[in-house]
Amino acid sequence: MIEIEGAAGQTAEIRVIHSGNLVDGSGAPPVPDAVVIIEGRRIAYAGPRAQAPAFDDVPTESRLDAAGGTILPGLIDSHVHLTFNARTEANSPAVIRQIETDDEFQIAIRAVQGAQACLSAGVTTIRDCGAKGLVTLRLRDLIESAFINGPRILACGMPITTTAGHCHWLGLQADTEEEVIRAARSMAKEGADFIKVMATGGGMTDNSNIFEPQYTVSQLSSIVQEAHRLGRRATAHSHSGKGQRACLEARFDMIEHCNWHSPEGWSFDESLMSDIIQAGMYVGITLSGPQQTAAKRETSFDELDAAQQDRYQSLQEMRHMGAKIVLHSDAIAPITCYEDFPFSLVAAVRYGGYTVVDAIHAVTGLAAEAIGIEEETGVLAEGKAADVLVLDGDVFADVRAIGAPKWVLRNGRVVASQGYVAATTSGVPLNA
Ligand SMILES: [Zn+2]
Repeated sequence: MIEIEGAAGQTAEIRVIHSGNLVDGSGAPPVPDAVVIIEGRRIAYAGPRAQAPAFDDVPTESRLDAAGGTILPGLIDSHVHLTFNARTEANSPAVIRQIETDDEFQIAIRAVQGAQACLSAGVTTIRDCGAKGLVTLRLRDLIESAFINGPRILACGMPITTTAGHCHWLGLQADTEEEVIRAARSMAKEGADFIKVMATGGGMTDNSNIFEPQYTVSQLSSIVQEAHRLGRRATAHSHSGKGQRACLEARFDMIEHCNWHSPEGWSFDESLMSDIIQAGMYVGITLSGPQQTAAKRETSFDELDAAQQDRYQSLQEMRHMGAKIVLHSDAIAPITCYEDFPFSLVAAVRYGGYTVVDAIHAVTGLAAEAIGIEEETGVLAEGKAADVLVLDGDVFADVRAIGAPKWVLRNGRVVASQGYVAATTSGVPLNA
């Protein structure tokens, strides 16, 4: 692969960030008046100024003064769809029609734009949980070779689903045991970072069933075993208790959404959840457009609709039970934009009983563990990649400060800043 040093352009190389309130992403309490020292692409020190190495010799242009602001790890949105295109006006049929009719060039350009929109909001790592074709795998490699500015991408390529199953329009349908194994192998062959399976139907896909598993436990187990044999994690989309039970029995590494829909309504199953926790599985909870919008508008819990209240009540119960919960946006599913991911955290604090530190942990250190990149990123500590988000304001004074990134660093370089946010296709700064 060709390494084009500095092709991310005009981006400044930073050696010191100082004076902000530091949240390191491990779940530890904040450190006031902190210093982060960066050597090349890695963090050499992150902690209190009193113990920091001297940095008087570092030129001003290589320093960022975070006084009055917050320093935290670049965020991880562990469930996005870069080839979808649902902005605020779109609905599911419109999204699907576009996926089906757009050519591969349009889809590729959309994916680039989406990846950069994430970066502008301080999201330095994304995991694409299902795309049309293989574009996300190629984009990942182009970003890593510094050909295109963008976040670190983990991609599954296409998700495995049944004929008529959820997201069948992305292109990878498999029905029998033999076919699901072949599907998992084919994604690994293309370089997928993990294997994604649609364990139940989905709301976006007409003629699928969100309440029932799409596969037998034996078929799901085969996929998990095949993924593990090939050195990859396996994660499953599931919307119902029946789906979650099948995922538990098949021993997936993670369950995406983990909703508790049933034909009778929302039905949280405490004993099943307890078994999922005992099995050590991670859970990815979706806080997307409707949750983000309520948080932005400062809607009170009582004003939320019943569906949202149910969602937060089970989220709180799952947390109290000790579940390993990662928060994600599912952008760009309808009414959800990549840039609004920070407001998923605001929603977690406002409605989900999260402390600010816990909410940040759920999208940094814990998310990195859940997707297997904790050696590389997720916390601000010596040896980790210098993926850093510097906020204008203090998140402990007002959590909405998370939506106002001042500087976004990847590998020690400023790759987005306030100016870049305004330049994304939404055209609107996050804090507007
Ligand atoms: Zn999704």
